[in-house]
Amino acid sequence: MQDREPEGTGNELDEEDEWQLYASAGYASSELEAEEKDSEEDKPGEIWFDGDDFDSERSTVNWDSPPCPAPLGIAHVIKIGVCNHCLIRISGFRSRGSGPDSGAAIREEALLRDRELQSKITQDYCPLCENLFEDIENIVDRLFDTLSDTDFSTMQFGIHLPKDLLQEEDRIRSKYGAPGSYHLKGAIVESIHKRIRELDKKVDFVKEKPDVMVLVDGLTLRVDVDVRPIFLYGRYRKLSRGIPQTRWPCRACRGRALGCESCEGTGLQYLDSVQDLIGEPIREALGAEDTSFHGMGREDIDVRCLGSGRPFVLEVKRPSRRKLPVEDLVEMVKINAPGKVEVDNLKWCTRTKINEVKQSRSEKTYMIRFRAEGIDDNEIAEQSILSLEGQVIDQETPKRVSHRRAAKTRRRKITSIDKVSFEGEEVEITLRCEAGTYVKELVHSDEGRTTPSVQSVLGKDCEVVRLDVLEIHAD
Ligand SMILES: [Zn+2]
Ligand SMILES: [Zn+2]
Repeated sequence: MQDREPEGTGNELDEEDEWQLYASAGYASSELEAEEKDSEEDKPGEIWFDGDDFDSERSTVNWDSPPCPAPLGIAHVIKIGVCNHCLIRISGFRSRGSGPDSGAAIREEALLRDRELQSKITQDYCPLCENLFEDIENIVDRLFDTLSDTDFSTMQFGIHLPKDLLQEEDRIRSKYGAPGSYHLKGAIVESIHKRIRELDKKVDFVKEKPDVMVLVDGLTLRVDVDVRPIFLYGRYRKLSRGIPQTRWPCRACRGRALGCESCEGTGLQYLDSVQDLIGEPIREALGAEDTSFHGMGREDIDVRCLGSGRPFVLEVKRPSRRKLPVEDLVEMVKINAPGKVEVDNLKWCTRTKINEVKQSRSEKTYMIRFRAEGIDDNEIAEQSILSLEGQVIDQETPKRVSHRRAAKTRRRKITSIDKVSFEGEEVEITLRCEAGTYVKELVHSDEGRTTPSVQSVLGKDCEVVRLDVLEIHAD
């Protein structure tokens, strides 16, 4: 960027005149003190988030054109084209207001002091802001256009300004501006806040956890809006088998584009998932883009989850609406997934709940039904099964998950076995065990990788028929 200060400016008056003018500028000193107090209190450096600001060393005073608030300093910045917005910002008279009208008043006074000043102005393009203040209304209009279909009550606002503009602005302001002058970025953000308040929009500006994050490019005036996700905590019951917890892309086409023949264009291996049965009606109701599903563990596709259900967090991405009664959402899920999935205890939560849910490890109660051939004496068989109660079992990583889990041996406790019943060749047991127990393997032993097991204590081959999670003992 070229230096926009014309050369030789400020040399028109003779040195004595200048010195006098600067020396008589004492009336400004009380203004200056008030100014410094102000800027300390409102800590302007914290309003935005992209933070590419910097400070440079104040340069030594140039007596040919001393810094504002000296009248010669003000005359100089007017000469180099500084706009009324920037004039009030760097003149040292900020207590007279912050808008362009206050800048215009200062300009008028300067023109009265020096009748020639108007003709000495070298350009009408402000070297401090590149006339960006004139775009404030435009920026705010674009902002609300972009967000016209989005509910929000809090906003985090940032503006990106080209580094060379900031450097040049800082250089000129340090050299000719009054000490403690508000920097460009803070002033622009402040003007944008002010404009938004003028429009009477209900929005709070925050530094964290906003509903929307807005970043404006000061060069192109492009407005980028990031609508932040919202989160719902709840517990789900899966009443039907054959439903995976999360969306499962088609194996053949991997869910790309428009799907393939094998998934009939759905892109999904299983049409239903707990994620979509719960998430889709909610996504639609909130006008959101997509969802993520975070469960407290997961059950296999063929396993039901009953009782009070499994805790989960649903992340709703880019929602247009942020506030609907949760009772309505529960009802929508109920209508969408009859006989498949139910939701309880739904409430709004924050992102931190995801980790809480993911890290929590709870004991679970299962009902498992299996076939065991050649049991002659049910009473002896029952005693053998009950002998596992309170035992700690060793489980090597099961074969069926070894492709995605590291091989290791886990020790898990069978807390209790509450019920054993027989029906022909089928046995049903209700048991409670530690988090992370592979229950199917506990029954069939996974070719001896789990010891002891129901199969080992019975001495018969066992084959799992079905499994239900009866309760997850989470708080
Ligand atoms: Zn300006
Ligand atoms: Zn496919």
